[in-house]
Amino acid sequence: MFFDITMRDRPLLVIAVLIAVGTSLLLYSFQSPDVVPEDAAPVQTVSLATDEFGMPISELSVIESTVRRNETFSDLLNPYGVAYERIVTLARQGRDVFDVRRLKFGRPYRIYTDSSGTGRFMVYQPNLASYVVFDLGDDPSIRLEERDVVVRKRAIEGVIEESLYMTLIDQDIHPTVANRMADVFAWQIDFSRLQKGDSFRILFEEQYVGDHLFDIGDVLAARFVHSEEDHFAFHYQNDEVDEHYDENGKSLRKAFLIAPVEYKRISSGFTRRRFHPVQKRYKAHLGTDYAADPGTPINATGDGVVTEARYGQYNGNYVKIRHNGTYTTQYLHMSKIKSGIRPGVRVKQGDVIGFVGSTGLASGPHVCYRFWKNGSQVDHRREKIPSVGPIPSQYLTDFNVQRDDFLMQLTQPINPSIDRSYAELLQTPEAVTSP
Ligand SMILES: [Zn+2]
Repeated sequence: MFFDITMRDRPLLVIAVLIAVGTSLLLYSFQSPDVVPEDAAPVQTVSLATDEFGMPISELSVIESTVRRNETFSDLLNPYGVAYERIVTLARQGRDVFDVRRLKFGRPYRIYTDSSGTGRFMVYQPNLASYVVFDLGDDPSIRLEERDVVVRKRAIEGVIEESLYMTLIDQDIHPTVANRMADVFAWQIDFSRLQKGDSFRILFEEQYVGDHLFDIGDVLAARFVHSEEDHFAFHYQNDEVDEHYDENGKSLRKAFLIAPVEYKRISSGFTRRRFHPVQKRYKAHLGTDYAADPGTPINATGDGVVTEARYGQYNGNYVKIRHNGTYTTQYLHMSKIKSGIRPGVRVKQGDVIGFVGSTGLASGPHVCYRFWKNGSQVDHRREKIPSVGPIPSQYLTDFNVQRDDFLMQLTQPINPSIDRSYAELLQTPEAVTSP
């Protein structure tokens, strides 16, 4: 949700772009207030005004700090003379509003004390967009307040000189936008292989709380010229659909991820006959082994329903997913199956289902990934993987109208200082053909 760089969706790409940054200093300068700060000592300030949380502080002192590592709700309140039973009451009765066990390291809080130094209120901010008010008085209570998140549309463009990150940072654009783009074009463009001269124009949403950038929202439309090849993305959303499509209404997303894990190397490919390192005999290997660090998250490669999630003598901890009548996938040798993953559970592409290990018959930490098509095991790397369906026909007309509107916005120069040849390149709408 926030600017934690998540490894969930497209781990390989995220890693690739992170490497491209080359230095954490660049990221540092873009830290939002949601980034966990160092442990800080509480600072006491006295004010006569009402504070930003609307707390009656004319006669209260305010102690402001951030949650330290492993600190609990009662650790925070103990120094301020709040009775233990009251803390327990708040923790128990307020659970539906806010579970006090979910205090996060580095998040800010305030404690309001009266003249005797006794805690009267506490305010905790789980994120920029909300805060929790604890009344520590005789009638203890908890309430959750949501702040308004304002969505602003923004259009940007650029030409890659060194890296996509650098290009974004040069324009004061949060580098998370690079991750969003990598998600949208995951199947079209290898973001670890961008080239000098590649260019883009993106229309996306920024979410603000007050003046603070809270998160990067959807990529509404994008055009990316990579190796002189033109790629378009148009977001289309309603109650039924939430996808990025190309200019012809074909989904950009494929039914399956290329690999189930962020891997170091393919330690063994699919073969009908190979020498087994543990069993010391020739044996078919009807899967692909992805070597990875123990504990690396394993992702479901496509949407589906879990049919098996258990331990087997040879497979170790494994999960099997039925995607549809045609495709089934299986993931072996996990150190651990993710809690909640059990037969009958529905998973989405990219969901974490377990963690890399070497349980069962395995010589080292890896995922043995198996892929069934119509009941027989096939080499998924040789399969032509289908796209997620195109825009449903009943929405096609509406999609075309939106696409043309986005196209107008994508083909108008945004930054007049941008290189002219690039601006002209992007003004060539012939690349788009109506379906
Ligand atoms: Zn294997």
